[in-house]
Formats: sequence, structure tokens, C-alpha cells
Amino acid sequence: MFDTHCHLNFKAFDKNLDEVIKKAQKAGVETIVIPGTDVVTSKKAVEIAEKYGGVYAAVGIHPHHVFEIFKSSMPFSRQQNKGKSWLEKASSLNQIEELLKNPKVLAVGEIGLDRHIYKKTKYADYQVDEDFINLQRKLFLEQLKLAKKYQKTLIIHNRQAKKDLLELLNTYYFLLNTKIVFHCCEPDDELLYFAIKNNIFIGVDGDVVYSPEKQKFIKKVPLDLLVLETDSPFLSPFRKFPNTPENLKYIAEFVTKLKDISIEDLIKTTTKNANKLFFKE
Ligand SMILES: [Zn+2]
Ligand SMILES: [Zn+2]
Repeated sequence: MFDTHCHLNFKAFDKNLDEVIKKAQKAGVETIVIPGTDVVTSKKAVEIAEKYGGVYAAVGIHPHHVFEIFKSSMPFSRQQNKGKSWLEKASSLNQIEELLKNPKVLAVGEIGLDRHIYKKTKYADYQVDEDFINLQRKLFLEQLKLAKKYQKTLIIHNRQAKKDLLELLNTYYFLLNTKIVFHCCEPDDELLYFAIKNNIFIGVDGDVVYSPEKQKFIKKVPLDLLVLETDSPFLSPFRKFPNTPENLKYIAEFVTKLKDISIEDLIKTTTKNANKLFFKE
């Protein structure tokens, strides 16, 4: 099996990383991709990937962390600093670009757009308004360009920002000559239609076990576009923190019921899809 989205770089695994990876391998998870969400976690993803066989990294800045970049490059008022300068001054993207040169980095991610209001966040004056979404758009676009430049796969995160995401992807369609996954895809027919039209893979997570909406959605996803992911330490199929990559097998087993196929066929197909997504053929 192939866990296409697993944050082994997060604090939840600081103390038992060896054990978590070993248990995952024992459960049949041969390949893991660790996505970054900012510069620090991207670096950590690369460090872990360099240490373990079958473990790879993705590097990028998550839309929620645009706030950090914005503040670090411009310690003044938000209102004064619309425009490009904040981005030009941000060294974060240069650091992400450096990391992309590492052979164990397979993708740019996770990047995208996010209108969700997080209750637990380290940003004190955080708010989701149009200024913030515009910053997200700019950073997303810059990272799309990086994926194109280095011919890397794109791991796209979208939360409650479908309209903005599809608008942006449609506008910059010329940038899309790379392989893409809608990670933890929201159950939405428009997203699915766009994915089918453009050969974009769809990530399914542990929440499928308890979300009837997701179950209905995954039934509609063509099997040749489906990839498995745990999004550990989040989205445990048992609603327990932390989720771990060994739980991928429970997601796989659950999905067989929705797709009416054998576990062997499901694993074979989703692994093949994930290899297609991340590795050059
Ligand atoms: Zn995400
Ligand atoms: Zn994630």
C-alpha cells in the first residue's frame, strides 16, 4: 500500500517515529509521502525521507501558513502591504525551492486555498477575509510555478474554497502540465467533474468510515483516479489522535465495500495510481 499523505514530520511523531514507520511497514504500507506545511515541516519531511527507505517528501507552504510568511516579511500593518512586495521579500519560497532539488522530494505540497476558520491556530490576529485569500492565491500561484519548473507533482489542499480553487486552476490551466492530487477531497461533484476532466487523482482518508457524504462521493470516483491517504496524525478512522499510517489498511478495507471489489484489487489499483502520481514512468 501507498500512504500518499502522512505528516510524519509533525510533533505527534517526534518520540516514536521509528516505531510508527515499522508498524506501518508491517501492516503493508511500503511507500509514504510526507507533505510539508511550512518551511520548518518541509525541511523535516526531507530529513525523515532521507533516513528511511520507501519514505518520500513533499515541500510547500499550506494556505493557512501564508499568514506566517506575510508577517515575517512585513512586520507592519496588513493594510499597508497589499501588492507584491511581501512575496518578493519572503525568503520562504526560496527555501522551498532549494528543498525541491533534493531527489527524495517528489512533490510540491501541500499547497492550495483554505477558507476554514481554525479554532486552534498559533496566529493571534488570524482572520479569513479577502486580503488573506488574495495572499493565499499569490502564494499558491508561485508554488504552482515551482512545480512546473521542477516538474514535480502537486498536492492540492482545499477547504471550503472550491470556487476560488477551480477559478484559479481554470485561469492558470497552462501551468497544469504536471500530475495533481486533490488530497482529502471534499465531497463535491464539481471538484469531481474537474478532476475527471483533467486526470487529477482523488485522495480518500479515514473520515470516509464515518461520513455518509464521503461514502456517497467515493462511490462516484473512478477507481483509476483513487489514491489512499491517512493524513496522520489527523483523520483517524477511529476518531483517535494521533492517527498513524498503519491505519491505511482500515481505509482500504472500508473502501472495498463502497467500490465492491476485493482488497487485493483495491490495493493493487490504488498503489498503481499513487506510483503514477508521484513517479515518472
Ligand atoms: Zn490538507
Ligand atoms: Zn495534510
